[in-house]
Amino acid sequence: MSQFTALLEKYSKPGPRYTSYPTAPYFHTDFSEADWIHELQASQDPARGISLYAHIPFCDTLCYYCGCNMVATNEYSKAEIYLQFLEMEMDRVAKMTDPTRLVRQLHLGGGTPTYLKPDDIRRLVTMMRSRFTLAPDIEMGCEADPRELTRDHLVALRESGFNRLSLGVQDLNDQVQKAVNRVQPEAMIEQVYRWARELGFASINMDLIVGLPHQNTTSFAHTLDRVLEWAPDRFAIFAYAHVPWMKKHQKLINEPDLPSFTARLDLQQLIHDRLGAAGYQNVGMDHYAKPDDEMVKAQQNKTLWRNFQGYTTHKNCDIYAFGVSSISQTRDVYMQNDKNLKSYQERVAAGHLPVERGLRLTHEDQLRRELITRIMCDMEIDTQAFGAEWGIDFEQKFADGLAELPALEADGLVRLEPGRIVVTQLGSLFLRNIAMGFDAYLKEAAEGQQPRYSRTA
Ligand code: SF4
Repeated sequence: MSQFTALLEKYSKPGPRYTSYPTAPYFHTDFSEADWIHELQASQDPARGISLYAHIPFCDTLCYYCGCNMVATNEYSKAEIYLQFLEMEMDRVAKMTDPTRLVRQLHLGGGTPTYLKPDDIRRLVTMMRSRFTLAPDIEMGCEADPRELTRDHLVALRESGFNRLSLGVQDLNDQVQKAVNRVQPEAMIEQVYRWARELGFASINMDLIVGLPHQNTTSFAHTLDRVLEWAPDRFAIFAYAHVPWMKKHQKLINEPDLPSFTARLDLQQLIHDRLGAAGYQNVGMDHYAKPDDEMVKAQQNKTLWRNFQGYTTHKNCDIYAFGVSSISQTRDVYMQNDKNLKSYQERVAAGHLPVERGLRLTHEDQLRRELITRIMCDMEIDTQAFGAEWGIDFEQKFADGLAELPALEADGLVRLEPGRIVVTQLGSLFLRNIAMGFDAYLKEAAEGQQPRYSRTA
């Protein structure tokens, strides 16, 4: 067993992904629609940008590994109706938004945003453009499923202003694709990728998943070789979380076909080696990018931030998220929409903002969010500067978290210098474990009462 594999085994335990802090299981239903309206009105700071998100929950078929809020349907009229509700929801939020505030980022996620027909993609973006002020240099990204994607979809995205595309590749092996009910031949993905390049998307990301049935290092090495030949700008490589007690459809996956824990560790090692050899840099958790990528530059400039869509170069933005289950965020509040499509639509139709739950951050939450985010993004902390900025004695305030670091240092994951904590290259693959030491909610929750998180490796 290599040193890397031994560490993955040692540090593999359930833990948050820290797309927010406090994490979503701590959002509560006491947070009401009135609270959200008050927050929207009170937080119109012209210095803060806006990031718009729309959730399109529809998919043609169900991938058995899916962990998203989605609806499998071939009744396209559902999507047309849904767009009307999105527009109503957007309209209400836009009326409370200062029109001088610029939208810096716009993202379509799902489900499958490209389930929408090309003209409906145009319609959705027009809805957003007519209600919010989009910055001339806006970053517009869309998640795409190669199976339903036509060249016309990509043309509609480009004409609407999208400059980023994220392709769900997952694994190129036929047996793996059949076992998860997501069959997309290599030639189809290559075609879509070529169209996207030809149409001038500035950045193309590919999503891959490790831990799917039948995966092994031989077959996955082929997948990695092929995608590296295509040379997308970024990779997001997620670990499959098998949670059939939460996601019932995952029972459709034949458990004996899942790679063993050791096989998963070997796959992680393979990714680490191949992407590193191809010149991609590990940008925090699950993400790899070329050295000249904005994400890498933002990390070097310490302006990288983390939100529900993963890593972002737009830190000072409020997220206004529309659609079923989507999560909005201001500096002080997280708010999640109704997760059920029917009741989401009923509440919007009745003239409401469909708030399901939320959370107002305390000062303590803000302080720990900043620290955890700096670990996840910068991978180093200047403890003196951090303490001065927040008016705290860093060593005293985080004594319990700091006490855990020498053990991580002994394993080569962090380097402790006077006044600085530095995550090592190796430690960048264990960011969740390092951050967890500073998570007050994890520490406070009694044993056995913590939310069920996916494993860190
Ligand atoms: S396309 Fe994405 S959202 Fe839809 S079922 Fe597959 S994994 Fe889930």
